[in-house]
Amino acid sequence: MYHSVQTGYTFGMPDCIFCKIVRGELSSYKIYEDDATLAFLDIQPVNAGHTLVIPKKHSTNIFDIVPEDWQAVAETVRKIAIAIEKTGADGVNIGMNNREHAGQVVHHPHVHVIPRFKGDGLKLMPQRSYKEGEAEETANKLRASVS
Ligand code: AMP
Ligand code: ZN
Repeated sequence: MYHSVQTGYTFGMPDCIFCKIVRGELSSYKIYEDDATLAFLDIQPVNAGHTLVIPKKHSTNIFDIVPEDWQAVAETVRKIAIAIEKTGADGVNIGMNNREHAGQVVHHPHVHVIPRFKGDGLKLMPQRSYKEGEAEETANKLRASVS
């Protein structure tokens, strides 16, 4: 059934399409909601059942979402992954695009939970190898940047 989400939320960003879904101004195929999060079908799925999990409160991406909202999103992602497996998927990919050059199109945080099926042929990432010394250097930079 195609229906709007009734959450009683009246705030958020006026022109953000995911805030509009939270406020019930745009329809979605809602799968689950709780106080802090909403899960609904991606309208252009990689596979049927591809679900987006968002915080109800607006932010932009992984770089500004507050830890409480991220924790709530992560827990809803876990629930959706389990639901997807129960409906017959052979596996699940979980992904998030953050900033334009990482493919983020909608600037409200959202985690993609994608059902996978044996032989569906989807390959998410090309792979490469590290050059001599590159892994050590990369790991050192990252370790020094973790706060
Ligand atoms: P991203 O590239 O990670 O920003 O992904 C945005 C996703 O939102 C895309 O997979 C779109 O198919 C999906 N999307 C955009 N508008 C809607 C909508 N109104 N309802 C459901 N999914 C949407
Ligand atoms: Zn928003």
